[in-house]
Amino acid sequence: MSKVLILTGAGISAESGISTFRDSDGLWENHRIEDVCTAGCLDTNEEATKKFYDARREDIKDKKPNYAHQLIVELKQKYPQEIAVLTQNVDDLFEKAGMKSDEIVHLHGFLKELRCRGCDEIFDIAYKAQDSFANLCESCGSQLRPNIVFFGEAAPKYQILTQKLNECELIVIIGTSGNVLDVTYFAQLTDKSILNNLEKSSAIDDSCFTKVYYAKATDAIAEIAEYIEDFLEEL
Ligand code: NAD
Ligand code: ZN
Repeated sequence: MSKVLILTGAGISAESGISTFRDSDGLWENHRIEDVCTAGCLDTNEEATKKFYDARREDIKDKKPNYAHQLIVELKQKYPQEIAVLTQNVDDLFEKAGMKSDEIVHLHGFLKELRCRGCDEIFDIAYKAQDSFANLCESCGSQLRPNIVFFGEAAPKYQILTQKLNECELIVIIGTSGNVLDVTYFAQLTDKSILNNLEKSSAIDDSCFTKVYYAKATDAIAEIAEYIEDFLEEL
């Protein structure tokens, strides 16, 4: 049972040089979100969508984790059962900081994977372009697609989120605007809650949180980690 749930978003990777979503007026790396990450865009806009994710994969290749990723990995390794780490991010910065694949849940998918549109088998593509890898599934022959949850698509891993929300007594939200996940509601479900963003978001009611840090994640994380450790030691 995880007593602590750490839930991160694009903001935790911002200081590593990966662009966030909302901070750029609904553009992600100069693309309209409707064009490249909305349900159906693989049918209406396949080439541009594939190229977009090829570019995102290439972009994260040389990006390095920052102090916030590193401290969260250390905490998870120190308290493997007590802490659950879930992220909305599709990058691999937690993994680069030392997190094993079964220690983190990517709620919205993972850039380094393709998924079969027929049988859902997952293929590890690393940082390669999709066309240089394979276009068809070796098991069933259907087309492959980026393993990314687009807007309007089901997110199967939300089942894990629901389970962890029910279990936890402290929730820690880092670097998310709350437009996709209703983090205010999550804070209300939980005994204690921490919010860390760069600035106030119109989609979050910060009065519902026990502690709020408007600061860079790398500046706030040491104090947040101390709070988590104190919380766990007192249980
Ligand atoms: P968002 O872009 O909507 O919001 C980013 C939040 O991070 C803002 O609230 C901002 O104040 C905060 N922030 C910015 N810089 C910060 C810093 N240095 N320290 C702390 N906080 C900082 O992000 P979201 O809520 O995660 O939603 C975006 C969606 O887009 C997600 O579903 C995700 O899958 C996807 N996305 C992922 C990545 C990635 O994998 N790195 C990048 C962009 C978008
Ligand atoms: Zn298949």
